[in-house]
Amino acid sequence: MLTASRSKIEPGKLLINGEWVDASTVFITFNPATGEALGEIADAGPAEIDRAVAAARAAFDDPKSKWRSMSASERGRLLWKIADLMERDIEELAELETLDNGKPIFESRYVDMPMAIDVMRYYAGLATKIYGETVNTQSSAFTYTLREPIGVVGAIVPWNFPLLLTTWKLGPALACGNTVVLKPAEQTPLTALKFGRLCQEAGLPAGVVNIVTGGPQTGAALVKHAGIDKIAFTGSTSVGKEIMRNAADTLKRVTLELGGKSPNIVFADSDLDSAVKGAFNGIFYGKGEVCNAGSRLFLENSVKDEFLAKLVDRAKKLKPADPLDPKTRLGAIVSEQQLKTVMSYIDAGKSEGAELLAGGNRVSVDGGNGYFLEPTIFGGVNNDMKIAQEEIFGPVLATLTFDDLDQVADLANRNIYGLAAGIWTNNVKKAHALARRLKAGTVWINTYGPMDAAMPFGGFKQSGFGRELGAHAVEHYTELKSVWMAL
Ligand code: NAD
Repeated sequence: MLTASRSKIEPGKLLINGEWVDASTVFITFNPATGEALGEIADAGPAEIDRAVAAARAAFDDPKSKWRSMSASERGRLLWKIADLMERDIEELAELETLDNGKPIFESRYVDMPMAIDVMRYYAGLATKIYGETVNTQSSAFTYTLREPIGVVGAIVPWNFPLLLTTWKLGPALACGNTVVLKPAEQTPLTALKFGRLCQEAGLPAGVVNIVTGGPQTGAALVKHAGIDKIAFTGSTSVGKEIMRNAADTLKRVTLELGGKSPNIVFADSDLDSAVKGAFNGIFYGKGEVCNAGSRLFLENSVKDEFLAKLVDRAKKLKPADPLDPKTRLGAIVSEQQLKTVMSYIDAGKSEGAELLAGGNRVSVDGGNGYFLEPTIFGGVNNDMKIAQEEIFGPVLATLTFDDLDQVADLANRNIYGLAAGIWTNNVKKAHALARRLKAGTVWINTYGPMDAAMPFGGFKQSGFGRELGAHAVEHYTELKSVWMAL
C-alpha cells in the first residue's frame, strides 16, 4: 500500500487582489504515484487574467498603494516573514509537492523546500542593496542612475520544481518592488496556492502577488496581456520560443530559463567512484526531470568499461517506490503524458541502435497505476542520435565515449542547448581549460548539480537567456533610469 497523505487538499481558487475567487471552469490535478485525482483547481480564463493584472497594476501604479510606499527594508522583512512561514509549514509544503509531482519526499523535504526558503531569505536581504550610481559626465551636470522596478511581472513556472522555481522568480521580483501575477504549472499547482496563503498571512498587501492557475492558454493570455511588463518564464524551449513571439507585440521584457541536454564529462584521471556517484545523481536525481540533468555522459574510452559496470550496477539497485516513503530515492514520473514521452525516447534509442544497459520499462509499485519507470542507461550512443540530442526529461541516460579534450569539447558543444556541464578530472589545468570551452551557463568540476541562492543560474544558446539566483537577477527585475540635472 502506498502511504496515505495527511494533507487535506481544498479546491484550488484563484488569488486576485487579496481574495480567493472561483473561476468559471476547473481542471483536475493528479497524483502521479496513483494516477488518482487530488483535487479540483480553478482554470483562469481571460476575464480572470484581466482582473489579476488590474489588481497587480493598481498595487504597482498607485503611488499611495501600501506596496509603493513601503521602504526596501520593510519589503525585505516581509519576504523574510514569508520564508519563516514556509519553514513553519515545511512538512505540509513538502508533502503537497510530493503528492502533486511524484518526487520523493526526501527531495521535497530536504532539498526543494530548504532551498526555496533560503532563496526567499537571500532576496529579503538583497532588497536593501539595490543601488543606482552617480556617473562622472560634465562638470556642469549632476548625473546619476536609478534602479526602478519594472512593473507587473508575469511569472510562468513548470512542474519539475514547482515551489522552488516560484521563489526564484518571486524573490527577486518582490525584492525589487514589482508586483506579480503567478501562473504555476497545471500539473502541480498545490504548493503555489499554499504559498499564496502564506503571503497573505505574512501581510503582503492585496494585489502584490496574484495567482492564476490554468494551462497553456492561461499562460499565453498572460504573455499577450498589455498590462504585463515582463514575463519570467521557466519551461521548455519550444514554449519559450512561442513566448518570445507572443511578447514581441508589446515588447515585454522576457527572461527564459529553458531546456537542456547537459554533458557530464569523465576523464580517466578522475576519482572514478566520485564520478560514478556524480553521473548517477546527475541523471536519476529528481527522476531526471531536471533542466540541468547530466543526460549526456561522456566517458574517456580507457575507463569506459570499468565506469559503466559500476554505474549500471548502481542503477539496477535503484527501484522506483512510494514517493511519500522517506527511504524512496526514485519517485513517479509527473504525468501519464510525460511517461509516454519518455517511453517514446526509450523506443527511439533502441531503434537507433543504442545498447540498453539498464532499465527501460514501466513498473508497477505496490500493484498500483502510478507512472513509475526504471532508471535507464543506454551505451553505444553516438552524438547524432535522437537520445543524445533531444531533451528527454526523465531518468534516461545516454553514454558516449571520447579520446581527448579537443574531441569531447567539440562533441559536448554540438547540441542546441547550453544550460550546464560537468567535468571530472584531477588535472587542474585540463579542468579549467575545458570549463572555458564549454558553452554552458554553469560548469561543475568534480561535482554535479549543487546550487546556491547566491550563484547565478541560466542558459547559453537555446537554453534561454537572463540569469536567476544571485545578485544578477536584479538586472532582470529593474529598469535603469538615467537622471541628468544641469548645475
Ligand atoms: P512547458 O514549457 O510545457 O510548460 C511550462 C509552463 O508554461 C507551464 O506553466 C505551462 O502551463 C506554461 N505554458 C505552456 N504553453 C504556454 C504558452 N504557449 N504560453 C505561455 N505559457 C505556456 O514545460 P514543462 O513541461 O512544464 O517543464 C519542463 C521544461 O522546463 C523542460 O524543458 C525543462 O528543461 C525546463 N526547465 C528549465 C529550467 C531552467 O532553469 N532552465 C528549470 C526547470 C525546467
